[in-house]
Amino acid sequence: MASFVLNSSFAFNRLPVTPTNFDFHCHSIVSDGLLPPEVVARRAAENGVDLWALTDHDDIGGLVTARATAEEVGMSFVNGVEISIEWRGTPIHIVGLGFDAANAALTGGLDELRIGRVERAKRMGDALAAIGIPGVYEGALCFVTNPSLISRAHFGRYMVSIGIARDMAGIFQHYLTPGKPGYVDHRWATLEEAVGWITGAGGVAVVAHPGRYKMSGGDMRRFLDDFKDVGGQGIEVTCGSHSPDHVMHFARLARHYEFHASRGSDFHGPEESYVDLGKLPQLPEDLKPVWRLVF
Ligand code: AMP
Ligand code: MN
Ligand code: MN
Ligand code: MN
Repeated sequence: MASFVLNSSFAFNRLPVTPTNFDFHCHSIVSDGLLPPEVVARRAAENGVDLWALTDHDDIGGLVTARATAEEVGMSFVNGVEISIEWRGTPIHIVGLGFDAANAALTGGLDELRIGRVERAKRMGDALAAIGIPGVYEGALCFVTNPSLISRAHFGRYMVSIGIARDMAGIFQHYLTPGKPGYVDHRWATLEEAVGWITGAGGVAVVAHPGRYKMSGGDMRRFLDDFKDVGGQGIEVTCGSHSPDHVMHFARLARHYEFHASRGSDFHGPEESYVDLGKLPQLPEDLKPVWRLVF
C-alpha cells in the first residue's frame, strides 16, 4: 500500500506542469545564429527555460537535433521557424510554432525562400562593390554555417572582420538597412503564403518582434487585420528587441485583436545578443500565452 501511494504521487508529479519560462524565438547555425542547435538547447535549459522552440530563419533543419537535446536535458520542446515575408513593401518576420515538420507545402515553400536568398546576396555584393567595397558576397560566404542559408548577419560579420565598422550595429546602420548602399529590395514570401504554410501544417503563426518594423500605427493595424484574416493567432509581446513601452503597446494590441501572446529572446549568440535565452520579462499576466495553443 505504501508503495502504491508513493507511485501515484510520483505519477502526479510527472503530469505536465504550467511552463514558467518559455522562450519561443532563437537561432542556431542552421540560419544566422552562432551556436549549434544542441548547444543552444543546453544553454536554454541552463538558463531555466522549461518550454523551448528553435526558430531558425526559413529553415527547419535544426529541429530534430534540438528536440533530441531538449529531451535529454528534460526541457519541453515545440517545432519552430521564423519565415521572412514582405507585406506592402515592408519586410516582416512570422514565427511558426508547433507545425508538422514533414509537411510538403511548408518544406517546399522554405526551400524556395532559401534559394531566393542566394540571388539576393549576390545583388548585395554587387551593390557594395559599386561603392568601393568589393568581395563582400564571397567574404560573407566564409561566415555562412548552412550552405543554403545566407543572411545579412553573415554580411555584417564579414564586414566587421575587415574593419568596415566596429560592430554589427554600425554595419547595419550604415550599409545594410533600407536606404543604405548594401540593402537591396527582395521578394520574400507573402503573408498569405507564410501563414498558410504554418497553419496548413497544423501550426500557429505569430508576428515576430512587431516593435522593430518601421510602420505607422495605422499600417500596423492594417497589417494585423490582414494577419488575423489569413489565420494568424499570435504576436510577440515580450521579446529581445522590445522596450517596456513596446511591451505595453503590443500587449494592448494583443488584447484588442484577441491574439495569443508570445515571448522570445531572439538569441543569436553570446557575443551578439543583448538578451540571453529565457532572460526576459514575463508576459503581462492577463494575456493568453501562446504556449496554450501548441503544448
Ligand atoms: P536577413 O534575414 O538576411 O534580412 O537578415 C536579418 C538578420 O540580420 C536578423 O535576423 C539579424 O540576425 C540580423 N540583423 C538585423 N538587423 C541587425 C542589427 N541592427 N544589428 C545586428 N544584426 C542585425
Ligand atoms: Mn537573424
Ligand atoms: Mn526576425
Ligand atoms: Mn529571429
